[in-house]
Amino acid sequence: MIFEPEIEMMERNALEEVQSARLREMVSRVYESVPYMRDRLQGVGIEPSDITGIADLWKLPFTRKSDLRDTYPFGLFTKDKSNLLRIHASSGTTGKPTVVGYTAGDLDIFGKVCARALAGGGAEPGMLLHNAYGYGLFTGGLGIHQGGETLGMVVVPASTGMTERQVRLIMDFGTEVLCCTPSYALTIAREFARQGIDSKDIPLKFALVGAEPWTETMRAEIDSRLGLRSVNIYGLSEIIGPGVSFECTEERHGSHINEDHFLAEIVDPDSGTPLPDGEEGVLVITTLTKEALPLIRYWTGDVTSIERGECSCGRTLAKMAMVKGRTDDMLIVKGINVYPSQIEAAIGGVRGLSPFYRLLVDRSGTLDQLDVEAELSKEAFEEVATEFLSDEAVEADHLLRSIRDEAQRSIRDNIGISARVILLEPDRLPRSEGGKSQRVVDTRKVLVS
Ligand SMILES: [Zn+2]
Repeated sequence: MIFEPEIEMMERNALEEVQSARLREMVSRVYESVPYMRDRLQGVGIEPSDITGIADLWKLPFTRKSDLRDTYPFGLFTKDKSNLLRIHASSGTTGKPTVVGYTAGDLDIFGKVCARALAGGGAEPGMLLHNAYGYGLFTGGLGIHQGGETLGMVVVPASTGMTERQVRLIMDFGTEVLCCTPSYALTIAREFARQGIDSKDIPLKFALVGAEPWTETMRAEIDSRLGLRSVNIYGLSEIIGPGVSFECTEERHGSHINEDHFLAEIVDPDSGTPLPDGEEGVLVITTLTKEALPLIRYWTGDVTSIERGECSCGRTLAKMAMVKGRTDDMLIVKGINVYPSQIEAAIGGVRGLSPFYRLLVDRSGTLDQLDVEAELSKEAFEEVATEFLSDEAVEADHLLRSIRDEAQRSIRDNIGISARVILLEPDRLPRSEGGKSQRVVDTRKVLVS
């Protein structure tokens, strides 16, 4: 179903008129009420009257995460904190956290964009929603929770952890919809398998997963092991949280951006020049309706591309490709740009491997070395173990070599880089319950200072 068809199926011209009017209003509101941003705009010679519509968007300066840190905690807010209903913060691994605030109007929008996403993912009023995103300062848990209630679902606020209990609740309640990170969906799938529950007996029908980059390989794994249809949900706390964009179950090819609230552009990561549709670059978002913390041309750091055109689901909202990585996740190995998700996609199709991997980057002398630790699938591991036990060590060795060689070949063919693949037995790599897995260990030393 489509939650707000009058908006999600709006003609492009009408949508652009709405966007232009909202952009004009937003820029003058920010100019009036945020001294930091007024100085920034005056610094580049921009008055609100210079912005007549979305065609003038490029004239505006970017806002970056560092601006939020520099004005910590409330310096970019248009409202006094007494006018807010909620504050979230993202845990900064370095320095101060990023603080975001919501008025009643902002929370209303948050609920609606998450309801659109849930509906796009197959959810319907009356269905049960098992929400295994973390509740707390992180926007995922409460955002999806409110989206479920806005859509009229029955929300089970499971949060993360205690996976054994999560599985029991899903079975006992007959829950249809699951929301969590893709890595936690796989953790839940493993727990179902451990309890001996077959995928056809799991009541789940749909899953909305996101908050970390994932791939088609992981999707296939989540779908088959949980017996459901999974879609991507994308967002970031600075913009609102989850619900910035979402895939529809009809196509599962690109996430529809809620463009009436979030104006999206793709820009060149080095020059900042806007790029045409279909080209890959950094996603930049301008919030059009946010009251407490409106952001002008926010540099998300996420690498993706945008496509416009009709979707078979009926929505006219533009679609963004699966995020390939973040510009700050990008590794440069032997002079080649490598995103962890590319490695994941390259080895994902190799029979005998699980979706769990870790990249180790080191430098010996002046040469970069990329090692990929990849776990064998349970089936392949059992096959190897059986052969060893029945004194067929040659066959076992042959199987391991063929898996390793195919993985190395796939990385070389797909990414153009040579890597050494190290096979591990299942469950050897560290996992964090519900959290994001540590996929890169870069131990290269600075050689010259
Ligand atoms: Zn669609």
